[in-house]
Amino acid sequence: MEFTKIIMKPDKKIALVAHDNKKPDLLEWAKFNRDLLAHHELFATGTTGDVLERELGLTVNKLQSGPLGGDQQIGAKIANNEIDFLIFFWDPLEPMPHDPDVKALLRLAVVWNIPIANNRASADFMISSPLMDSEYERLVPDYEAYRNRQIQWQKVSE
Ligand code: PGA
Repeated sequence: MEFTKIIMKPDKKIALVAHDNKKPDLLEWAKFNRDLLAHHELFATGTTGDVLERELGLTVNKLQSGPLGGDQQIGAKIANNEIDFLIFFWDPLEPMPHDPDVKALLRLAVVWNIPIANNRASADFMISSPLMDSEYERLVPDYEAYRNRQIQWQKVSE
């Protein structure tokens, strides 16, 4: 398979999302890592962003609340190469009204090969990686072959 390279700069565009039961976890994690996060550009779904901005005193680009479209907005930003890192503490024990959006967001993170931390341990490992503060060449499958694939059009006879 062919790949293309997307450059991730030392200052990353990081999206943070936490379901309600996981917000305390994310907040504690973000407070502990505040200085490491400070020079990156932060994005978040609405309520998560409110909490983080208030408690960390950092600017957060706030999108819609998750169930109102925020997860999809982050997914769109991933597809547009406007987000290059996702920290998403989703709740495995609670059904969500926006389950399809959650799944779609996780899927797009994989499609575009961006790092995703879905729990605190992963987030700890990632934030302490030397790659966090250096340039990184992210390999993304070259989707040209997919875009140019042959589609069978069948004329329906009347
Ligand atoms: P919220 O959304 O930050 O607005 O609570 C999170 C989510 O449920 O995806």
